[in-house]
Amino acid sequence: MKKHNFSAGPSVLAREVIENTAKAVLDLNGIGLSVMEISHRGKDFQAVMDEAVALFKEVLNIPDGYQVLFLGGGASMQFCMVPYNLLNKKAAYLETGTWAKKAIKEAKLFGEVEVVASSSDKNFSYIPKGFTIPADADYFHITTNNTIFGTEILEDIDSPVPLVADMSSDIFSRPVDVSKYGIIYGGAQKNLGPAGVAFVVIREDILGKVDRKIPSMLDYKIHIDNGSMFNTPPCLPIYTCMETLRWIKKLGGVEVMHKMNQEKAALLYSEIERNTLFTTPVERESRSIMNVVFVMQPEYKELEQDFLKFTAERGMSGLKGHRSVGGFRASTYNALERESVVALIEAMQEFERLHGK
Ligand SMILES: *Cc1c(COP(=O)(O)O)cnc(C)c1O
Repeated sequence: MKKHNFSAGPSVLAREVIENTAKAVLDLNGIGLSVMEISHRGKDFQAVMDEAVALFKEVLNIPDGYQVLFLGGGASMQFCMVPYNLLNKKAAYLETGTWAKKAIKEAKLFGEVEVVASSSDKNFSYIPKGFTIPADADYFHITTNNTIFGTEILEDIDSPVPLVADMSSDIFSRPVDVSKYGIIYGGAQKNLGPAGVAFVVIREDILGKVDRKIPSMLDYKIHIDNGSMFNTPPCLPIYTCMETLRWIKKLGGVEVMHKMNQEKAALLYSEIERNTLFTTPVERESRSIMNVVFVMQPEYKELEQDFLKFTAERGMSGLKGHRSVGGFRASTYNALERESVVALIEAMQEFERLHGK
């Protein structure tokens, strides 16, 4: 049976990316050795790193003055590396969900944190608007896509101070005006590769402005000076990221991804609105094109488990919603095919015929 993988993360990768990684695990480019058993400092792996960085810059259209890093520690390590390297006195944060809260908690270890706006009053079902970014902050931190709550900031906002964005779950889902950002970071395991590596895009001129001493492993400058090889990088996950970037480029780049993602999300949201069994708590203008959160209408709440079983029987996995929202979450990342969204919509329609009034 065809599997439809709606997992929020680690999540679906293009079949061709997995197959090419499998080949490189057995034999990298015909050298007779696995990508897992060669020195990261040798020319064969250096070529992988160079291509991954070059494609990252090309596909995301990164201007001069920025560096791309591949580091261990996941996005969660960046929650502390960002303030460690940038927070002198005060940082501003937008509180839009669980991951934003975790980032705020870490930043508070390093200085004052001003939460400029929060959507916690309505269980993070919307993106706050009309907030003011304090001009005296060292940086302003946002989470562009709230993986758990299904909300997304779909444009590149203007900020008077360096803008820092956690793009773990929407990197490469749409074109981004990188010049508006000081740092873009994320874990690879949502829309780029397997777990084990984080990416950091960083404008070099925002560094070197804090007074504290920074441990080497947490110092962006050290990682930049060493081309992400201060220590042994996560070689295999980086290889897979490179394959995903080749795949995105081959399909036509982020513009094409964006169009496909918008279409998949629009199909699904319109079925959620039409179907009498389902609804979504997410405010219309804030709806994510990466994680589509929906729930049963209150009078059908007891059918929740039945629907999960119903979809599992049709090859669908990863649809259970996060415990802080309940219901369902269909993650529609780049590599999720339109036919998987169509299969889910058909299951929702069939379920309505069986259980609706
Ligand atoms: C998954 C996720 C994280 C956490 O990533 P780790 O790599 O597990 O640390 C952080 N932010 C967002 C938006 C996420 O989706």
